[in-house]
Amino acid sequence: VRYVYAFGEGGRDQADLLGGKGANLAEMTRLGLPVPPGFIVTTEACRAFLATGGEPPGLSRDVSDHLATLERSAGRQLGQRDDPLLVSVRSGARHSMPGMMETILDVGLNDDSVLGLAKSAGDERFAWDSYRRLVQMFGCTVMGVDGALFEQALDDLKRDVGAADDLGLNAADLAGLVETYKELIRRETGESFPQSPAEQLQRAVLAVFQSWNGERARLYRRREHIPDDLGTAVTVQTMVFGNLGPDSGSGVAFTRDPATGRSGVYGDYLANAQGEDVVSGIRNTVPLDELARIAPEAYEQLRRHMATLEAHYRDLCDIEFTVERGRLWMLQTRVGKRTAEAAFTIASALTDEGLVTAGEALDRVHGDQLARLMFPRFDASAVGEPLAHGVPASPGAAVGAAVFDSAEAVRRASAGEKVVLVREETTPDDLPGMVAAQAILTSRGGKTSHAAVVARGMGTVCVCGAEELTVDVRRRRFTVGGTTVEEGTVVSVDGSAGAVYPGAVPLVDSAVVRYFETGERPDALVDAVARAMEHADGVRRLGVRANADTPEDAARARRFGAEGIGLCRTEHMFLGDRRRLVEAMILAGGDAERDRALEALLPLQRRDFGGILEAMDGLPVTIRLLDPPLHEFLPDRTELAVRVARAEARGGPPDEHDVRLLDAVNRMHEENPMLGLRGVRLGLVAPGLVAMQVRAIAEAVVERRRAGGDPRAEIMVPLIDTVEELRLVREEVDRVLADVSAESGMPVDCPVGTMIELPRAALTAGLIAEEAEFFSFGTNDLTQTTWGFSRDDVEAAFFSAYLDKGVFTVSPFETIDRKGVGRLVEIAVAEGRAARPGLQMGVCGEHGGDPESVHFFHAVGLDYVSCSPYRVPVARLEAGRAAL
Ligand code: ADP
Ligand code: MG
Ligand code: MG
Repeated sequence: VRYVYAFGEGGRDQADLLGGKGANLAEMTRLGLPVPPGFIVTTEACRAFLATGGEPPGLSRDVSDHLATLERSAGRQLGQRDDPLLVSVRSGARHSMPGMMETILDVGLNDDSVLGLAKSAGDERFAWDSYRRLVQMFGCTVMGVDGALFEQALDDLKRDVGAADDLGLNAADLAGLVETYKELIRRETGESFPQSPAEQLQRAVLAVFQSWNGERARLYRRREHIPDDLGTAVTVQTMVFGNLGPDSGSGVAFTRDPATGRSGVYGDYLANAQGEDVVSGIRNTVPLDELARIAPEAYEQLRRHMATLEAHYRDLCDIEFTVERGRLWMLQTRVGKRTAEAAFTIASALTDEGLVTAGEALDRVHGDQLARLMFPRFDASAVGEPLAHGVPASPGAAVGAAVFDSAEAVRRASAGEKVVLVREETTPDDLPGMVAAQAILTSRGGKTSHAAVVARGMGTVCVCGAEELTVDVRRRRFTVGGTTVEEGTVVSVDGSAGAVYPGAVPLVDSAVVRYFETGERPDALVDAVARAMEHADGVRRLGVRANADTPEDAARARRFGAEGIGLCRTEHMFLGDRRRLVEAMILAGGDAERDRALEALLPLQRRDFGGILEAMDGLPVTIRLLDPPLHEFLPDRTELAVRVARAEARGGPPDEHDVRLLDAVNRMHEENPMLGLRGVRLGLVAPGLVAMQVRAIAEAVVERRRAGGDPRAEIMVPLIDTVEELRLVREEVDRVLADVSAESGMPVDCPVGTMIELPRAALTAGLIAEEAEFFSFGTNDLTQTTWGFSRDDVEAAFFSAYLDKGVFTVSPFETIDRKGVGRLVEIAVAEGRAARPGLQMGVCGEHGGDPESVHFFHAVGLDYVSCSPYRVPVARLEAGRAAL
């Protein structure tokens, strides 16, 4: 195997092997852009290293060969005594994980080459500063010394010499600091800082490999659903220096605004700084335009390269660059992360510019982004004076209690509280709190600061650089003007406007939701969403229905584009006042008493169904017969028992109804209701229940038809294990349908189908299809019964541990487990269709609205997905994307 590729040998389609950063550096090199030369160690080498814990054989030879080539073309050697070649050793995986792994700069400096660097740069202070940075980074990352010890040593030195900041330290101070650092390393590790440039390089590469499994990186991957077994590539690249004086600097640029998608040049620049300084927010950056004044030639070149990259990638690119004494170097590019708003706006703009087709534009937006745009925003008429303004770094509206550190954010959030994390600036250590927070608010840093980048990636609301805020982490409060906001005080953060308000500002519907409701397209964003939806609807093969139990939900779903109801649950129709009737039915002493209770329920059910059929007139409405165990409609067992016991203790006779109820509740108690008397089982043993429901449906159909409507009810039987169950229920269903047809003189024949939500049903789908006119996959129950765990019991108990340990990267209740549950679906689809060609098949579990799962359902050939009304647009969009 070959473990190393020169920049000239790779390209952007090799991100799996070279990591995104490496592959794109190779691509830029091939495009002829000014990239400091280098080479890339593959992800394969990383995987081999992580698997064995040792350096894979052949790696060090490959690295030294490529280093030799690099040295030859540079005409100087790594860490040589005069004018040394120095390199950075950079992490970079398939998926961008900004700041989550390690990068080591200035590798090759030692006690000799630092003098050579001082001479060639003509700047002693710079050389010693670079050296002390290397010793510090190497000490932490490679040798495992606590970073705080270095910070402490630096602070001590500043105090001793009376320097206000790093810039107040001169060359001699920094040379002394290097000695202190080296001594510190010896003390902490018993080992010296390695003087051999080759050893530095080799160990740095392995340390970057190791950083793949660092805590931050693992947490980030879990959050972003990135698999744990990909590994990182390592890019070794010639150093260039942005910290060589006022005509040097570093910056970040975007070819379009990553927050709004508007075209134009966006970015931040920091003079006399290394790249790390730009994102760390330690000094405030200037807008990129200023570079035009500071280094006009470099700026012009950068503009040209940005145009080249955007035309080449046909997408928003983000770029890291460095200017060394007026000369521009490109250090990184990638198709940039963006907000949901920007994703739609850019896709639409690129279509207009003729850079991408409508299909490609659709491919570049995601259902999760659409879902985000459907979140409510602050009510413009209710917002008062903002407390402060900052940079609108990641849009959306969030309300929560201000907290001042990551741990507190996590603590409160896991107790169910909504929090806003307030910091001066964030570092990768704040990640757990950032994940837990509704919004992130910082007083420093721009659109490219750590807080901004991470928040945009997660879709979390963020306002950064709110400079009026004084954040006092120690006293757990911030002040702005005369106002002090203590920890726990509720604030509202508007990430679209970049504003912070006191208290909880009320929320209103988003413009995108209004578009779905009314068709209005007030601005470019809504127009972009509309265009994506139109294209998706034009190409998708999957139908989209909604899960809705009320006429209001049905009507909303229809406005959102639902083409019917895939799941109308009837259980809520048994709650409220109707509990009394259900109780009567359960407690009935004889047939007559029970029939009376059912008769009382009948007209109520008929009305329920009538309303829904009316709202979905002309479209299919799949009504599921009662599914949950009957005891769910009875009072709580303990409460009842207490009531009866109290009455007895008082000496009086307990309420007779209570006694009967308690008796029934005890009789019906189940250890494991999920696997108990429910679904079709209930229908087969509770006399009259199915007949009543079917009659209500059939009569509602007759009424709707008489009223001139076009009702399309379908009857769905839940929790079938075997075709025998379905055959028995069908007999009763058919009898009732025949009765109602005869009584009304109007033939009522509703299709009768079943849920496939138990493994046995999936495995015998061929037999079941003989009796079923349609299948609907109930993937919630199917997931529970296939995995053998119940959602309510396990999510809190061990899912986070499972996600941590990588048992799965995403909850199988969120995204369909293709290998297991999905396999059952595939079997049932194939056998069902073989037994009954043209069998209608859909899915009504929550997976029906999950983007990833929609693609699976498209691929296995279902006819439709059904999901909650608000997910309907998401499912339409993803069904379209799946068909591309
Ligand atoms: P991350 O993935 O965390 O952004 P990078 O590998 O991009 O890490 O490195 C962090 C910073 O170090 C970059 O912003 C870049 O500016 C700087 N850097 C990396 N390599 C070089 C180099 N060869 N010359 C100058 N600066 C570099
Ligand atoms: Mg970078
Ligand atoms: Mg179910």
